[in-house]
Order: sequence, then structure tokens, then C-alpha cells
Amino acid sequence: MPYPKHILNTEIEYLKGVGPARGAVLKKYLEIFTFSDLLNYFPFRYVDRSRIYQISEIDSDAAYIQVKGVVTSIAEVGSGKGKRLIARIKDNSGSMELVWFKGQKWIKKILQVGYEFLAFGKPTRFKSSYNMVHPEIELFAERDERKAQVKFQPVYSSSEKAVAKGLDSKGIFKLQIELHSKLSEKIPEILPAALIHQFKLISRDEAYRIIHFPADLAEVEKARNRLKFEELFILQYELLKYKQHRKNYYKGHVFSTVGDHFNKFYQDVLPFELTNAQKKVIKEIRLDMKSGKQMNRLLQGDVGSGKTIVALMSMLIAIDNGFQALIIAPTEILANQHFQNIGILKTHLGVNVGLLTGSSKTAVRKQIDEDLRSGELHILIGTHALLEEKVVFKNLGLAVIDEQHRFGVAQRARLWAKSATPPHVLVMTATPIPRTLAMTFYGDLDVSVIDEMPPGRKEIITRHYFEKSRLAVQGSIKKIIKQGMQVYIVYPLIQESEKLDYQNLMDGYDIISRDFPRPEYQLGIVHGKMKSEDKELEMARFKKGELHILVSTTVIEVGVDVPNATAMVIESAERFGLSQLHQLRGRVGRGGNQSYCILMTGNKLTHEARTRMETMVSTNDGFKIAEVDLNLRGPGDLAGTQQSGLINFRIANLATDHSILKAARLAASYLIDSDPELGKEENKNLRIFLSDQAKNQFDWSSIS
Ligand code: ADP
Ligand code: MG
Repeated sequence: MPYPKHILNTEIEYLKGVGPARGAVLKKYLEIFTFSDLLNYFPFRYVDRSRIYQISEIDSDAAYIQVKGVVTSIAEVGSGKGKRLIARIKDNSGSMELVWFKGQKWIKKILQVGYEFLAFGKPTRFKSSYNMVHPEIELFAERDERKAQVKFQPVYSSSEKAVAKGLDSKGIFKLQIELHSKLSEKIPEILPAALIHQFKLISRDEAYRIIHFPADLAEVEKARNRLKFEELFILQYELLKYKQHRKNYYKGHVFSTVGDHFNKFYQDVLPFELTNAQKKVIKEIRLDMKSGKQMNRLLQGDVGSGKTIVALMSMLIAIDNGFQALIIAPTEILANQHFQNIGILKTHLGVNVGLLTGSSKTAVRKQIDEDLRSGELHILIGTHALLEEKVVFKNLGLAVIDEQHRFGVAQRARLWAKSATPPHVLVMTATPIPRTLAMTFYGDLDVSVIDEMPPGRKEIITRHYFEKSRLAVQGSIKKIIKQGMQVYIVYPLIQESEKLDYQNLMDGYDIISRDFPRPEYQLGIVHGKMKSEDKELEMARFKKGELHILVSTTVIEVGVDVPNATAMVIESAERFGLSQLHQLRGRVGRGGNQSYCILMTGNKLTHEARTRMETMVSTNDGFKIAEVDLNLRGPGDLAGTQQSGLINFRIANLATDHSILKAARLAASYLIDSDPELGKEENKNLRIFLSDQAKNQFDWSSIS
């Protein structure tokens, strides 16, 4: 390569003070592989080291501070999980305890009675005084002089294994000092000068130096801003470039006609008028599918907004043009439901529809395989099993992915391998994603939104009750059943507490059976441990109205459609996340009747849980709920996005950096238009950086 290997690409063990053993730990636990990774390992806060507090002065637990004092005692107390190391430190104003629950071995090596230590940490109020849990400590006499000049001490996160190797925040800071002493030349700028000017950014070199060694906190803001912009800009650039590349590179099947199937369905089969939003979206999809380019469209629409019909009509267009279509659902229950609903096409339109899931029998598979290859089968419905290589179509024209926010770029790419010209792809999601997340996770897709509910829907009324109101809640359920409607009762099922949760579900079922005795009330139960035939049987009975109450775990979460079910009770609602609560609630309110969602919780709620309940009670708007969710939990915890790889930001935060993201996306899009090949001199460094990065890490196939 003509571009010289920059010092930043050096493997981390070659940094002085690292070596093979620590190097291995840095790689394994902190994902620091190279000098560059270390440089990009940012502190998450700073301690003002210019000030040493008197112990008697501490009067709040709001901030990180440092104290200086003589260690007067060290003791190990407790046992098992409660085992901890407690040291008492004393200055001339008073004394306090320092407490370690972890890493005691390491601390014991450093601490010495009778010596003066500095302790950094966050004071915690304990009875009438304060203590400090897991403070950073340093022998005062041996404090690092270079560090002593540092006014704002950066604090880096670490892991237990790394701390055991001396790589706590302080250890990492030492490495940063070492690294920066090695960087004799400036860290090369990669953003074009015009961009830096336009967005008033500081230089890359300055930003990196400031973030690790700030002189004041105002400066840090500028550095963070610059680094966030860069991070988001690069990602948006890659996403948009990828989208453009795909548009230029892949031809799309041209669906020029809207034919008999579509028209007949529209005129004779469709039992209702489409909403304007549905019409608008179908138009967008039609335009895409006749453009000659491959469609890659995300269809967002709240639960119950009627996405399925849109998908169905799009598939009919594919069939009208002589192509096949597939639809992938995330669970077997949903695949079955689609199969039943779409099955009516066979009778009305003579369209052949097949179902393929993980539990399909070999004979069925074989038949489907044959019919797919011959073109006999028009629509294939199924779960992820459809992605397997051995599922071969005669001419797949459209792939619909339903309710699937777990579908990354790479998985989508696997669909394209199914024919020489890739099929059009429609991804539907009912999990409203805040715009910031959509821009990143689905940044390479075009977006359509159904922002209107079918007419006649009544807003679901949501109420939050504490345990003590259970009797009243039971009364309401009985009333609802008396009116001929059905009820879901949902129990949480969390992987970590699975055993206990199943126990709760079963106990709950027993109690409900007692409170709603047969034969007056018919009860059913569905959960993940049941065989899928049994699950389906119960679901079918509920759907047919044979059951009054369906007790379940969250297996019914996504997409299940029983319009006569108008009430849902969510037990231990405080244990659910907001987006999950919203998804669950979407199971009711599907018919014309007033629907209810009842959130049952214990009496004691955390502040966050209370916010979740209040949000659910106050709004039905999925996008609003998603925003609150993002703010409460941060993007990393949003359903299905953990594995995305696209949200593991080093410094940007999608919950708070909305405006930087918007600017970065705009700038990236402008750059792609104005200099598609990055051939201009002012974009040269960016081009080099990107191609370097592509070689090192930017591997789309690793993102899923
Ligand atoms: P989702 O967007 O959650 O997938 P569905 O497609 O399952 O929603 O639609 C929810 C319900 O609304 C279904 O029973 C469907 O038949 C009905 N529906 C869809 N569109 C309309 C419409 N335009 N008018 C009336 N009912 C509709
Ligand atoms: Mg749906």
C-alpha cells in the first residue's frame, strides 16, 4: 500500500508498559487492540484534582471529589458476596471509610496503615456520615508528578479482569500518557476543511489531546463535540455510500404492471377502504418496484396501523409481474397467522401460498422446494428458515420482512443471493424507532411511514393499578367478558429469572382458574415451553372465541390479531420495558370496541418504573413512547438493537446527540453528491482514512 502504516496502527502490546499479558487483557476485556483503539478509549468523566476536600466538608453525594488523609486501619469484613475491604482514612477535619467489594487483592497490595493517601471517588451517604465505594487511591508521596499537573483527572471505565492487571482508570491513564508522548507528529485531520469550518469544529489533533488531558471543562465539550461529529459522520457516510452503491450496482426487477390479482383483490376481496396513509405507502412501493432499481424500504407503522395489507398488495404486484414473493415473520405463531390470513388468496385469486418453518415436516419441505423451483408456489411464508441457502426460488421478486427489527444489513444481503437480480426488500417494523436510531440502524434504507390508524378505532384506555386494587380489576374483567369480549393476562418472562417466572405464571394461572371458575369461564394458557402444536391449538381456540381468557407470557407479543380481545392485564408490569409494554398493548384495540390495558404493579416502584407506567397511561403514540424509552435506557438497551453493532458508539449517544447526528448525516449526504469518489484534494485524507478503515474493520458482513 502506498499509504505508510501509521504508528496508530501498532498493536497495543508494543506500547511501553503494556507487554503481552496486559495486551491480552486489553484486547479481550476492553477491546483495545491497537494504539488507535487506546486513543479512542475515552474517559466518561473528569475529577477536579486541583482541589482536595476536607472530610468534614463533604456534604453531598453529587460529585466525584478527592480527599487526602492517613490510613488508620484496614480490615476485611463479611463473607461470601458481602465480603468487603474497609479502610479508614483520616485528615485533620475528620475521618471516613473507603470500601471495596471487588479487586480487594490488588488494593491490599497498595494500602498501608500510617501512610498518607489520596482517594478519588464519589461519596455515598451512609447513616450520618459519608463513605466512598471503590475509590481510586494513590500513595500521596509517590503520586505521579505528571499527573499532579493534570488539573482534570480523566476517569476511564475498566473491567474487573483488567483492574486485576493494574488497568484501572489510573492504569489506563498512564498508558494514555505514554501513548501521547509517542505521538510526536500531529494526528492527521480527516474531515475536509470546509466541513470543519462550517460546523465550527476543532481539529482532530486538538480534540484527542483535550479529551484525555483537558485544561478546563469547556474545552472538553468542544472536543467531545468534534469527536461525536466525526464518529457519526463516518457512520452516516458509510451507510449512505453503501445505499448509493447498492442503487447503482444492483438492478431491480421492473414490475411495470398492476394486473389482475391486484385489481381483483382491491375490488372484490379487500373488506375495507384503505387509509390514506396506506394508499400513500403502496404508491411509494409501486414507484420503487418499477424504477429498475432494487427497492430497500423500511415500512414503519404503529401496531395495528395495517401494514400487513400493504405487504400483501405489494406481493400481488410481484405476482402480477410473473414473480414470486416471500414473507418472513419472527415467530412461528406469526408465520402461521400470516399463512391463515393470506390463505384466503387461494380461494379468491388462485394464488398458491406455502408455509415453511423450523418445524415443517420433511415431506412438506420437499413439496415446497419443488413448487418453489417450478414457480408453482407464488408466496412463501415462514420464519428465518427461509433464509437458508437451500431454499431456492424460480424467480423471487419481493421479500417482505415482518416485525423484524433484528434484521441487520448482512441478513438482508443474504436475501439477495437468492436470485441473480436481487429481490425488492420491504422491511416492516411495528417498533417505532426514534428517528435517530432509524437513521443509523436503518440508515441505508428508504423509509415509509403509516401515520394513521384505520378509521373507527378507539384509543386504548390504559390504567395503572397497584396490587391492592386487584379485586376491582377482577370485577372489570368479569364485566368485559359478560359483554362477550375476551381478555389477555400477560406474565413477564425474563431469561435470567426464567424458572421463577414460569412458577409465577403457573401460580397465577391457578389463582385465575379459581377466581374465574369453569364452566362459566373458559381459560387457556400459552407459553414458550409448550410444543408449537399445542400453542397453536390454544391460540386458535382463543381466536375462535372459545376461550374467555388467555393467560400467557410474552409469546403473544408481536403481531397476534384477535379483534374481539379488548382487554389486556399485564402482571408485574414494572418488569417490562416501555417498548415491550407498548407492543403488548397493541394486541388489543384491534376491533371497533373500546379496549383497555391494565398495568398491575407492586406497591413500590423505582422512579424509572413510575415514569414508564405514567408514559403508558398518558399516550398511545408509539413514537413518543420510543423517545421516552431511548431517554430512559439509552440506545444500547432498546429492543433488538443490541446486536446491531451499529450502535456501539465510542462517544456519540443517540439519545442526546440528535442534532449532531442530523448535521452529520446532512454533511455526509452533501459530500457524496459533490464528490462521489472523494477525488478532490481536500477530501484526500478522508479517502485514505476510509480505505484504511475498510481494510481493518468496516466489514458489513459482520454486522447483523
Ligand atoms: P400491523 O400494522 O400491526 O401489522 P395489521 O396489518 O395486523 O396491523 O392490521 C390490524 C388490523 O386492522 C387487522 O385486523 C386489519 O385487517 C385491519 N385493517 C388494516 N387496514 C385497515 C383499514 N384500512 N380499515 C380497516 N381495518 C383495517
Ligand atoms: Mg403485523
